[in-house]
Amino acid sequence: MARIDLVDLAHSYGGNGGVENYALKPVTMTWRQGGAYALLGPSGCGKTTLLNLISGILTPSRGKILFDGKDITQASTRARNIAQVFQFPVIYDTMTVGQNLAFPLRNRGVPKAEIDKRVAEIARLLDLTPDLSRKATRLTADAKQKISLGRGLVRSDVAAVLFDEPLTVIDPELKWQLRSKLKALHRELDLTMIYVTHDQTEALTFADTVVVMHDGRVVQSGTPAELFDKPAHTFVGYFIGSPGMNIIAAEVSGRQARIEGRTIALTRAYAALPSNAKVEIGVRPEFVDIAEPAPDLLSANIERIDDLGRIRFARVKVGDVKFAARVPAGFAPSTSQVGLKFQPSHVHVYADSHLVEGA
Ligand code: ATP
Repeated sequence: MARIDLVDLAHSYGGNGGVENYALKPVTMTWRQGGAYALLGPSGCGKTTLLNLISGILTPSRGKILFDGKDITQASTRARNIAQVFQFPVIYDTMTVGQNLAFPLRNRGVPKAEIDKRVAEIARLLDLTPDLSRKATRLTADAKQKISLGRGLVRSDVAAVLFDEPLTVIDPELKWQLRSKLKALHRELDLTMIYVTHDQTEALTFADTVVVMHDGRVVQSGTPAELFDKPAHTFVGYFIGSPGMNIIAAEVSGRQARIEGRTIALTRAYAALPSNAKVEIGVRPEFVDIAEPAPDLLSANIERIDDLGRIRFARVKVGDVKFAARVPAGFAPSTSQVGLKFQPSHVHVYADSHLVEGA
């Protein structure tokens, strides 16, 4: 396994020139050896492009990729020594499950005793032991994809294992099991793993570090808790969490935000923000409570209440802006008009969508 450095890496598929139109805008970051990473973002944000640059399917328009300090930007996919698992199963129907799992090792001339040991281990981890001598033909798509995962994980000497939306064809119940299992596999196998998905639950369950992409850019890389507690970009706030973070335009000065004539306290002080910047505050629904209207509270109108069992969220509107806020246990608003109570330590300030650190 390897440490992976991306140095000013960017890619354009051609077309009109400027960096602003690149499918992957310049990114510099390090992925540590043995880490579990997820590349998370909506369709078209550049996840597959980044993955294909790392695997060598694409050559970047600019920048470098280093594996353990060695420049492999121009190296072939084979020379990079990586394993890949794709959306759809890649297995040989004429072989048994065991032969399929052994194939990547045999292909590299690994001694038979070692192949047998490793295949047995991977089969055990993926609950494939009873099927080892079965022909792979006529297996369900789920079972075939499990074998594909096994083939991706079977070599212990790879620089990294890359997964491109590997659970797409898996049925929902098994998907849930495999999602947790992949995390456990990462702990046991000690491999550098990079997992591409647009599904936040998959990303947050699997990865120690989630790399969030938006419009060809890496907008934040952090632990699931960091992405939740302190979104570096309004997109991260909105994309992660359910419901996503509330974002609303505000005037910010010192330790106060002003919205619609009301003051919201902030725990940090903000020096003058650029006068032409779009200034907003962001706060997760978990840190705003609805209350009876009061002169010092931002007022809102309830549209509906979603009861999620352990927690209730009110969907409200502040002027024209949609907002979600917690309904405190036992609270039944007497009218649709309510006040919003913010937890100041969880209110973040954004200028042109980027987090501003207060002092
Ligand atoms: P998805 O989840 O839909 O696969 P993604 O996040 O993986 O999306 P990419 O496939 O990396 O996104 O695509 C990023 C951008 O590059 C998109 O605008 C896409 O249309 C464009 N793109 C991808 N492949 C090519 C290609 N071969 N030629 C031209 N443009 C491409």
